[in-house]
Parts: sequence; C-alpha cells; structure tokens
Amino acid sequence: MLPSRSSLSRSQIVERLTELLTADQVITDKQQLLEASVDRFRKYTAVHGIYDGPIPAAIVLARSTDDVSRTLAFANEHLINVVPRTGRTATEGGLETIVEDTIVLDGSQLDRILDVDETNMMVTAQCGVPLQRLEDELRVRGLTTGHSPQSKPIAQMGGLVATRSIGQFSTLYGGIEDMVVGLEAVFADGHVARIKNVPRRAAGPDIRHIAIGNEGALCVITEVTVKVFKYQPESLHFQGFLLDEFAAGVEGLRRIVTEGYKPSVCRVYSEEDAAQHFSHFAQGKCVVVVVSEGPAGVARATDDGVAEIFASIPHTPVDPALIATWFGNLNWGQDKIDAEKATMLAEGHLGYTTEVSINWSGVPELYDAVMTRIRTTFPRADDLTMLGAHSSHSYQTGTNLYFVYDYKISCEPRREITEYHEPLNAIIVEEALRLGGSMVHHHGIGKYRTPWTLEEHGTAYPMLAALKTAFDPNGIMNAGTIFPVDAPAAPSAEK
Ligand SMILES: Cc1cc2nc3c(=O)[nH]c(=O)nc-3n(C[C@H](O)[C@H](O)[C@H](O)COP(=O)(O)OP(=O)(O)OC[C@H]3O[C@@H](n4cnc5c(N)ncnc54)[C@H](O)[C@@H]3O)c2cc1C
Repeated sequence: MLPSRSSLSRSQIVERLTELLTADQVITDKQQLLEASVDRFRKYTAVHGIYDGPIPAAIVLARSTDDVSRTLAFANEHLINVVPRTGRTATEGGLETIVEDTIVLDGSQLDRILDVDETNMMVTAQCGVPLQRLEDELRVRGLTTGHSPQSKPIAQMGGLVATRSIGQFSTLYGGIEDMVVGLEAVFADGHVARIKNVPRRAAGPDIRHIAIGNEGALCVITEVTVKVFKYQPESLHFQGFLLDEFAAGVEGLRRIVTEGYKPSVCRVYSEEDAAQHFSHFAQGKCVVVVVSEGPAGVARATDDGVAEIFASIPHTPVDPALIATWFGNLNWGQDKIDAEKATMLAEGHLGYTTEVSINWSGVPELYDAVMTRIRTTFPRADDLTMLGAHSSHSYQTGTNLYFVYDYKISCEPRREITEYHEPLNAIIVEEALRLGGSMVHHHGIGKYRTPWTLEEHGTAYPMLAALKTAFDPNGIMNAGTIFPVDAPAAPSAEK
C-alpha cells in the first residue's frame, strides 16, 4: 500500500495539532525531531549526527486515550502518516519516519499502572509504563509478569505488545502473546476498541492478535492487561554445561522441552558467542544455560530432569554461581546504551543481531548455512570481529536462532547500513526462508525485513494485507512497516 500524502503543509499540521491538544503536547524542537526520525537500526549513523530521511512534522505527547483518538482521527482525515512509539528500543526501523511531515505519536506519558488484581492474577497498565517499573511494583507484592526481555529497563508495555516481544524466561511463561489477557486499542479513524479480560473464549477468531504484533501499522495500543504469576526467587536453580558442538547443545534443549520439562530459561551459545558472554569460563566451548523455577518441588524436579538429560551428553559442568552472576547482569539499561555509543564513536565498532526461527530438524543446517555463507561470500568478512549465534527460546516444535555479528567499520559512516548491516541481515533472513523457517522470531518486521514479507507469509499474505485494508484504509499507520510500501493492498492468493 502506498503511503498517504497530506494536503496540509507542515506548519498547518503543527498549528492544527496545537489547537487539538495543548501547545506543550506538540514538540517541534529540531534535535528531538531528528532523533525521532530513526530507531536503533540506524544507531551508528545517528551517533554521527547523520539523519538523511524525512524529518517528522511534530511529536505528539498523548496523555489520554482520547488524545490518541483525536490525533488519529485528524491524521486520518488529512492523510498524515503516524508513527506510534513508547520505549523507543525498536531495532528494525519500525520508528523510522519514511514519509514527509509524519506525526510521531508518543504514548510514554500514558504511564499509569491502573489495577493489580491479585485474585484474578492480572495487572492492567497504560501503554507507556516501562516493564521494569511494572515488575518492581509487582515483585513487592510477590508477583511477576514473567516477561523479561533484555530491554526491560527501557521498553514500555505498548511497544512490547506491538512487537510480539519475548523475554528470557519464555520457556516457562511464553512470549507476550501468551501473557496478554485483554487490551485497549485505537484505530486510524479514532475508534477506541476494548478487548475484555476473560480466561478464554471461543467467540470467533482471537482478535487480540490484530493488535499484538501490529507494530503501529494497524492501531495504537493504549492499555494492556497481562497475567501475573507468583514470584519465587528462592527456588531458582541455575545450571551450566560446556560442550564441544553447538548441535549437541541444541539437541539437549530439544530433549529438555520435548520430554516435558519447563525450565524458565534454556539456551545454547555457539563457541564464538559464548566467548564474548562467558569469557572467564567458556574455554573455547559452546555454553548451555538452564534456569529452573516455580514452586520448590517443581523447580527441583526440573533441575534434576535437566541434569539427567545432560548426563548422556558429553560436557564439562559449570559452577551454577557463575551462571547466576551472568544472568544478573544481562539486561540493557541506558548505561549500556551510552557505553555502546561511546565505543561506536571512539572505535568505529559495533554489533547487531538478526533472530529467526525454525523447526528442530532444520536448526543444524540453518546454523551451518548462515555461518558458511557469511564467511565465504560477505565481501567485508575481514571486518567481522565476531560471528556467532545462540538459541534462547525453545518450543515443542523448534527454536530460535539469534545470530550475532560484530564488525569494525572501514567505510564512511553513512554507508555502514548498506555495506554491512543490510547484507548480513539479508543472508540470515534468506537462509531461514530457504530452509522453511521464519525470517523473524521476535524483533518484528519493522521496515528492513519488508522485502521478504510476502515470501514469509506466502499464500496466507492476503489475510495479512486484508487487515491493513480494513483497519487502515487511508494508509496513515506507520507507512513501510510490516507491509512493503509498493506491495498491492490485497494481492491475489496466487503466488
Ligand atoms: C538492548 C536491547 C535489547 C532487546 N532485547 C529484546 C528482547 O530480549 N526481546 C524482545 O522481544 N525484544 C528485545 N529488544 C527489542 C525491543 O526492545 C522490543 O521490540 C520492544 O518490545 C520495543 O518496545 P518499545 O516500548 O521500546 O517500543 P518502540 O521502540 O517505541 O516501538 C516499537 C514498535 O512498536 C510500535 N509501537 C510502539 N508503541 C506502540 C503502541 N502503543 N501501539 C502500537 N504500536 C506501537 C512502533 O511504531 C514500532 O514499530 C531489544 C532491544 C534492545 C535495544
């Protein structure tokens, strides 16, 4: 669908928004607009002050669902592109403003925790509540959401739901899609839809999934209700194993999950990835990390079951205290982001990731295919300082592969994306699709995996395209995200 084109000028848009809301809700500061035109996909150019794309007309700070509704209705009437945002930790270009005079609709001031319901085990929060704050509040009450993405200190509830995020404890608690009970969302015409909180229903298709993972391309999520669980840190068990082969670690994870155990964390790191995460004990080996939790008896039984499985896989055990310490320092707050910026500027060095998923039987081939293709065909392979992968989220049928690549940049900053990031990302995505996997496990399609959206969905793509046509007929919602700008709105089912 082609992006909308407004007939209003930039100054008219700002003037009308100021009338619609209050002046202090409409930001037009040049630097803030520049920074709002990109996300972490362009973290290297941004740190050099390079912003080449269209700059938004204004950032709107929504303070109520009604603010969101009126802003969207105005944008829809005048065909103005809208990019919703909350925590701004997006990594795939979802926050990029590719259309002139976009409105960036910021939900971070919708930041109230509305209700903690300890009987029905759910919590309701506005979209701008940072997950860390929610977790801190819940843990005081002996509860947890069970959601723990690495970006937990910064990411906020709206974005976490809008991207189908997943956390480190996913093997036990699932991804965000398993946690959302109900939500409130506002559509392009300003309509406010509330999906009620019930434990399950069979009242037609599950409409929560129109909002979950929509990446701001269908609606703005203003409020979310998620499940809560008992927080039982006293029964945590940590285990670590050193292995010679990545494939043996993957097989260990497969057996843990398919034999019926539900540790909260089960991961395997390739030797290259392990060397950077566990430099003080990895000894050039692959590392498996498992955390078991829950009621004491369940946690103990899970820990014993994992030990039994690894008893038949040659390994060297790791001191559990080392795994516990590593785990305690895994999350990324503003301090690590600032340190990363300093390194990018001082050393011209950075790291990126691309995460895909595949059924168990395809994991070894996908891993080998990506590593071989990058090493042998990537023209700037000599600049790679690290290339590895880990599997961090496992299911009954398969797992994810999270490829990690660090490189030293030996071209001018502006060309970093096309010389390094895009070709590396493309190799991983293409190999995942070629072998029957999914091109994206949890970061969302954003704007940089849209060249493969049609291939990802195949004959089911018309079902996805129909959502865009139905819920955003004027094409004002986050143009270029999920849906390629030049794709037909409702392509035929032939492929
Ligand atoms: C250091 C780091 C670690 C990360 N670790 C993880 C991880 O472990 N697991 C994981 O899943 N992801 C991870 N991510 C990616 C990112 O944190 C997630 O995608 C997160 O869910 C984004 O939330 P946010 O509030 O920052 O959203 P934003 O960055 O503000 O937005 C993300 C996308 O959602 C849309 N959006 C935002 N708010 C709304 C809303 N209210 N309604 C509709 N659309 C909206 C935006 O338009 C954009 O397309 C990581 C990122 C970083 C930088």
